[in-house]
Amino acid sequence: MTVPHQRRRDPGGKVAHGDYDVVVIGAGFSGMYALYKLRGLGLRLQGYETGDGPGGTWYWNRYPGARVDIESMIYSYSFDERLEQEWQWPEHFSPQPDLEVYANYVVDRFGIRDQVQFETTVTRLRFDEPTSLWHVGTDRGEEATTRFVIAATGSLNATNIPDFKGVETFQGRWYHTSKWPKEGVDFVGRRVGIIGTGSTGIQVIPVVAQEAGHLTVFQRTANFSIPSRNRPLDPEYERGWKQNYRKYREMMKSTASAAVLLGQHTDRSVFDVGDAERDEILEQAWESRSGFKFTGSFKDVRTNEAANEIVAEFVRRKIRQTVQDPEVAELLCPKTHPLGTKRLCLDSGYYETYNRANVTLVDVRANPITEITPAGLRTTAGEYDLDILIYATGFDAMTGSMTRMNVTGTGGLRLEDKWVNGPSNYLGFLVAGFPNLFMIHGPGSPSVLAQMIMSAEWQVDWLHDRISFMLEQGYERVDTTEQWEENWAREVEAAADATLYKKADSWYLGANIPGKPRVFMVYVGGFDNYTRRCTEVVDNGYQGFSFT
Ligand code: NAP
Repeated sequence: MTVPHQRRRDPGGKVAHGDYDVVVIGAGFSGMYALYKLRGLGLRLQGYETGDGPGGTWYWNRYPGARVDIESMIYSYSFDERLEQEWQWPEHFSPQPDLEVYANYVVDRFGIRDQVQFETTVTRLRFDEPTSLWHVGTDRGEEATTRFVIAATGSLNATNIPDFKGVETFQGRWYHTSKWPKEGVDFVGRRVGIIGTGSTGIQVIPVVAQEAGHLTVFQRTANFSIPSRNRPLDPEYERGWKQNYRKYREMMKSTASAAVLLGQHTDRSVFDVGDAERDEILEQAWESRSGFKFTGSFKDVRTNEAANEIVAEFVRRKIRQTVQDPEVAELLCPKTHPLGTKRLCLDSGYYETYNRANVTLVDVRANPITEITPAGLRTTAGEYDLDILIYATGFDAMTGSMTRMNVTGTGGLRLEDKWVNGPSNYLGFLVAGFPNLFMIHGPGSPSVLAQMIMSAEWQVDWLHDRISFMLEQGYERVDTTEQWEENWAREVEAAADATLYKKADSWYLGANIPGKPRVFMVYVGGFDNYTRRCTEVVDNGYQGFSFT
């Protein structure tokens, strides 16, 4: 439906149009789709993107080994059937370069590129109460006004480099994995250090090990990883998906993860089967070619600690069988958190890497890093000389990209002040006191725990309908209240409490950033329940929304 351009008045009765109707911040997969979808409303749209190309996560994370951990046939746009049919993924789990090519194809195919001002970072957002317009300031010194802002700024965008003494003194070259140089890095013959063994570390370590003279891995927390068994995409498998895409996409929408892993879902408990049968089931899942199918082998892995421990021990056995040095194997066995409560990793030869003569594992939980030095790195146990240091140390996740943007709402309220005790909001979309500012994959939404392209599409479609409703009704502002934020926070908390997630010091809880409030930031109740809740809210007369 095309809605004619709205009339707007300032208090003196003059029209206050603003430069744009909607500003979309970020040209990752959510932002790209928002710009495409909202076009249908006949609005004046403007995108801003820091990078010089689209793709967001898949633009920035170009470290060697970067690869999505969801099957490519699933992890792709569903909004256009022709796109689904014409696009061919070379591999089962796409590497970063293929995802970046896809992002570029999509922006050109759907005319989105011209809607985005690239190499431009939004550095300031201020809501002007008299006109109900947002003022958007950029690092180019520009300022524009807009009615609505969609922050498609990413859950994992704000880089975390730990506050080590001496970071800047290092005389070698150093990189954070999410700001990797386009020209790549030559590791041949170099002494390389990597801090971090999360999903990123686990991907980059095997690749760097193949080139480096010597690789030293500084591990604070051992993580669970299962083999991805990545391979070229089987044409028969691809055909099957393409013939059934509509049906599969519908199935995806009705799952907690917004992904359909065929044959995965089960009502079987770990305790329904004997030891031998359980081992056989896990063995099959381990050898299977479906990645996360492993955790779906039993229904209670994420909710029952004893069940989880049995499956966790299966993985530890695999690690001990794979890694030849028993001390190294033991160090690699995760013992600090239940399996899956930090992102379960999918790897290509991670544990095998520690059998290489040029790789050393250093335990920085027992002996923490005390300082980065001009020559390398010092822990409480010793010094390590390095030519290259890689920080695979993650992100100020979920909130960082918002709080680093200098956002000021009504009454001069600053977002970082409002969120000092955690990222309060309603449905993951809307923050009280920040009218007409919508987040995609915001804290309190399923975000990183559902297939992010499908959940972005769903959130954008939902926002499209809300904006359309406001235009039809002649509303200029939508806000919510702290009471509704509290209600939603309780739902998010209750969903997390029904699982084992809070038993890990994860970034889901903000635990990776010293001083960050410990609030569970992801809605783990499932994509299916989340979308149902958002729909209910609208059907119940826009519960919790205040329109002006
Ligand atoms: P991460 O999971 O936060 O891991 C950061 C690593 O750095 C952890 O091992 C952490 O140790 C370590 N670290 C942080 N500060 C440290 C310090 N002061 N001293 C020593 N070690 C320190 O970050 P990530 O690996 O970049 O992954 C973030 C998320 O991105 C993932 O959870 C996933 O959702 C997503 N991701 C997905 C893929 C994929 O699709 N395949 C790939 C990469 C990333 P502690 O655990 O002890 O804090």
